[in-house]
Amino acid sequence: MKIKCPKCKKVAELSPDFSLVSCKSCNLEMSYGEYVKFIAHNDVTYSDILGDYTGSTEGQTAGSLDDWDSQSG
Ligand SMILES: [Zn+2]
Repeated sequence: MKIKCPKCKKVAELSPDFSLVSCKSCNLEMSYGEYVKFIAHNDVTYSDILGDYTGSTEGQTAGSLDDWDSQSG
């Protein structure tokens, strides 16, 4: 399905099984889990999406978001 690319803000594609996010505009390619963390770190308005995803894993990924700052530049 079509989703908003977290990197270039254009249209990215989410695979039907929610396993992979890819954007042809900026060659972004990441897992959906990475995508959720990426947008959570960069745009708090996506918190609605996170409700379903992080419900059972909340707290387990704390401390890892800072890594994105050095990887996404
Ligand atoms: Zn993109």
